[in-house]
Amino acid sequence: MNTIFHKIINKEIPSQIEYEDDNFIVIHDISPQAPIHLLIIPKIFIATINDISNNQLYIMSQMLKIVQILAVKLQVDQTGYRLIMNCNPDGGQTVYYIHMHFLAGKQLNSHFG
Ligand code: 5GP
Repeated sequence: MNTIFHKIINKEIPSQIEYEDDNFIVIHDISPQAPIHLLIIPKIFIATINDISNNQLYIMSQMLKIVQILAVKLQVDQTGYRLIMNCNPDGGQTVYYIHMHFLAGKQLNSHFG
């Protein structure tokens, strides 16, 4: 499996990187749906939420820690933000490499599709 996010993590294609550490990369979405639209991507490849094994569930806690860091860094911790993870076709997943959307910078509507 080789997705666009593999190429982004490997720096084979450019992206606007907001944050990076040994375990995650956070990039700006190429097609932003809000003034701030980030994608939090673990460096360990997992295709969908369904594929996270029991001993990989810690990745979700790490992801939430990244969310908290980003919210403070971007000064939206008090104004607010929305987190989305899409799974499979009905969930709207288009890139089969797990990632979390971080949306902020305006009051988002409550539309759930
Ligand atoms: P999904 O629909 O799978 O939840 O989200 C995939 C997201 O990746 C979409 O919001 C899409 O705009 C974004 N995306 C797809 N290709 C690229 C790319 O090459 N660079 C960046 N920065 N974002 C991408």
